[in-house]
Amino acid sequence: AVFDTLSDRLAATFKTLRGKTRLSDADIDATAREIRVALLEADVNLAVVRDFVARVRERAKSAELSGALNPSQQIIKIVDEELVGILGGETRTIRFAKNPPTVIMLAGLQGAGKTTLAGKLARWLKGQGHSPLLVAADLQRPNAVNQLQVVGQRAGVQVFAPEPGNGVGDPVDVAKRSIEEANRRLFDVVVVDTAGRLGIDADLMQQAADIRDAVDPDEVLFVVDAMIGQDAVNTANAFAEGVGFDGVVLTKLDGDARGGAALSIARVTGKPIMFASNGEALTEFDVFHPDRMASRILGMGDVLTLIEQAEKTFDAEQSAKAAAKLSSKEGRDFGLADFLQQMQMVRKMGPLSKIFGMLPGMGDFKDQIANIDEREVDRLEAIIHSMTPAERDDPKIIDGSRRARIAKGAGVQVSDVNGLVNRFFEARKMMSSLAGGKMPGMPGIPGM
Ligand code: GDP
Repeated sequence: AVFDTLSDRLAATFKTLRGKTRLSDADIDATAREIRVALLEADVNLAVVRDFVARVRERAKSAELSGALNPSQQIIKIVDEELVGILGGETRTIRFAKNPPTVIMLAGLQGAGKTTLAGKLARWLKGQGHSPLLVAADLQRPNAVNQLQVVGQRAGVQVFAPEPGNGVGDPVDVAKRSIEEANRRLFDVVVVDTAGRLGIDADLMQQAADIRDAVDPDEVLFVVDAMIGQDAVNTANAFAEGVGFDGVVLTKLDGDARGGAALSIARVTGKPIMFASNGEALTEFDVFHPDRMASRILGMGDVLTLIEQAEKTFDAEQSAKAAAKLSSKEGRDFGLADFLQQMQMVRKMGPLSKIFGMLPGMGDFKDQIANIDEREVDRLEAIIHSMTPAERDDPKIIDGSRRARIAKGAGVQVSDVNGLVNRFFEARKMMSSLAGGKMPGMPGIPGM
């Protein structure tokens, strides 16, 4: 699909950061360079790339340190937010006029997918409870009127077109009469399909501008083929100047191209991407959500959810205290009570199987994830609860007779207590070597 290469490259970049507990300026610069190459390869506009990379680098260096996130997660979060930004930020769709009909005019090059889009949009509008009228103001292409009629029929909506047999007809006149028709027959949205040429030319712009003046549209949508790469930006600029538009529709996002147009156009034109077309069928069409697109590019929708949950759930103060204890000699200050606390924070995020399922690259471990036994964690909690505070602070003092007492209190076997204590020592060793003054994003999970 369209962003596969970009997704893969970014994923590879982030992978090199995994396991690092802090990022040096050199790490950040190297990452920024990788991101730059990835975006340029995806055919993103150079000015957009420069700005993007500069912002990511600056934000990463001023490190909005968060107790809940490790450095690689922080970088992913920054890149995600910046991607949402260049994709236009908030989701924005059609603004309907106070006094119907709302007039939507489609503009763009020939072959961009305007006529197809008219049908998709009509179908979508109908689904929202509107009664749209499609208008064939593309009288340039011999078959255009007929094509719109076919599309309208499929979408189950009315099409307004010049009478056949009257010669070519005047698109401005057709557009003007369509508004009267909508008023008369109570259509509340009018979608005007206009002619496109293969390239930008003055006549085309003039005609589109004339239609615009005749129908006074509430929304002019610039329809652009996402596969045409850098040309998309030039074309957008030409239309912005010649006709002006309020929003962008990206088509052919199902294609196998690099997709840089999609990533450049909102930032370059300052206009929101409202819809995306991803196939020839009328149903292959969606409202464009910058945040979801960014997640898709990062291939990490679920991780972002996880990060959000971690930020919400993790008590930064508690994490900082745990981190300080772990950076004591061999992590000796970090006791079982802290261990339990960390474990409980993780559990607050949801069932363990779900948490692990959200991590990238866990696909290979599907079976193990499904087999995570939540009761095992309950058992560990019970064991820790039947210890005395002194035992929790310094598990080294837990000798044979204490083990027997703890096992009895928790209703488990002595071997279970042994297992927990041993795993605790291993986990503490690992976490304290990782911590190096800073807590790794996800605290160690016992038994894992
Ligand atoms: P117009 O000249 O701007 O009206 O463009 P058309 O609507 O006639 O579309 C040109 C071609 O692109 C047609 O063959 C459409 O079926 C095709 N097309 C339109 N939108 C999409 C899309 O999102 N994905 C794909 N794969 N093809 C599309």
